[in-house]
Amino acid sequence: MLRASVVPVVVLGAALGLTGCGGGSGGPAADGLSSTDTGTSVASSLGTNAGASTGNSTGGNSGTTTDTNVAPGGGTADSGGAGTSTTADTGISSGSGSNGGTTTGDAACPDLSRCVDFTALRIAKYKDNKRAAASYTFDDGYATSTAIGSIFEKAGLRATFYIIPGVIPADGWSMWQALRDKGHEIGNHSMTHPDFVNTVMSDQQLDTEINGAQRLIEQKLGIRPQTFAFPYHLYTDRALKVAQQNHVAVRKMNLGDPGYQFAFFDTDHGTDLAGTLVTVNRQLDEVVKAGGWFVAGGHGIDGDGWSPVTTEFLQKHLAYAAQYSSTLWTDTFANVSRYRLCRDTVKAEVLLQSSTQAYVRLTGTYDPAVCNAPLTVTVPVSIPSGAALHTKTADGTEVPNWVSAGTAFFNLRPGDKISLQVVPATKFAK
Ligand SMILES: [Zn+2]
Repeated sequence: MLRASVVPVVVLGAALGLTGCGGGSGGPAADGLSSTDTGTSVASSLGTNAGASTGNSTGGNSGTTTDTNVAPGGGTADSGGAGTSTTADTGISSGSGSNGGTTTGDAACPDLSRCVDFTALRIAKYKDNKRAAASYTFDDGYATSTAIGSIFEKAGLRATFYIIPGVIPADGWSMWQALRDKGHEIGNHSMTHPDFVNTVMSDQQLDTEINGAQRLIEQKLGIRPQTFAFPYHLYTDRALKVAQQNHVAVRKMNLGDPGYQFAFFDTDHGTDLAGTLVTVNRQLDEVVKAGGWFVAGGHGIDGDGWSPVTTEFLQKHLAYAAQYSSTLWTDTFANVSRYRLCRDTVKAEVLLQSSTQAYVRLTGTYDPAVCNAPLTVTVPVSIPSGAALHTKTADGTEVPNWVSAGTAFFNLRPGDKISLQVVPATKFAK
């Protein structure tokens, strides 16, 4: 399922030359192209380029396969597990050069739109162009949450803890502050853990259970919980509406998304832990294959809390999941929810500044309070050998990009823009 948004190409600046660098020709003009009144033959230039083949015209990357994920140069928080990442063999690296190389003489690609297929600019389905996502959630705030957190930290990962603020004693918040400081998500599991279906609640009670709990957690931790999980997975439409008003997402067992799988990390839904481990690992296999989202739901560990799993169970599962580290994005429920929401509301847009320089910016009708984390932008490229794609922010800061199988990737925050140039690798590297 393609979740990406098609991009209108907006032309700001100069005419595009026809001397290219290996792009094909003859493709039809892409729908949705628009041009400003530069009076040049911009549309036809772009149209000529729209059918450009990017897969086999560069020297370096023709041997890679299309579904290989390459980790970005900068590394990410979820890159902890053992992986099978393929390194891009294009000779292109994110580098740290400082030369903007803005003149045409520096450009390794005199007609940028022939080297970068802006008509196919997209936002990747998941961060870093990973194929699928996984989030691990633990409910009720048991004492072993700290131990759970450290199991994830050792794997380079972060988990989500849904806590019940109404039952936390005044001196009981330090463990949640510590988990917050380690980068784990502290989510809202209601004020007192009621059954929202079988308890009659006034509007006031509903507000206290959901919004009051959110406010109390924010007051204690200084961070407003972004996601909510209903106790027992039970909710009414009325309660769901209240939860959705002030939370980015609500954790559910079903999302109406065929790739989504909720995995029970407990002994209540399986005969024994060994069998449960097989079940959840198989669920993960299916999610990775489908390009979906695996959401684990557990409680405590090692005898603590309701139907707990064990340290060994978590470690074995994470070791199994590590085989997918190059294709699976593991992050908190909030971070994955946010990415999924924003990839559908944010649009990537191209601004052609000149024949050798373009800007990409993320725009659209998104909520800036929610879509404030980088999204991964993908664009097919055909980089001449000996050249490199150069991406930097308006203030000149280098932004890492990586190229795999004829596609370039970089992370960009909604509202920000980045300049793209193709420059000789030697110049770029100095
Ligand atoms: Zn619960």
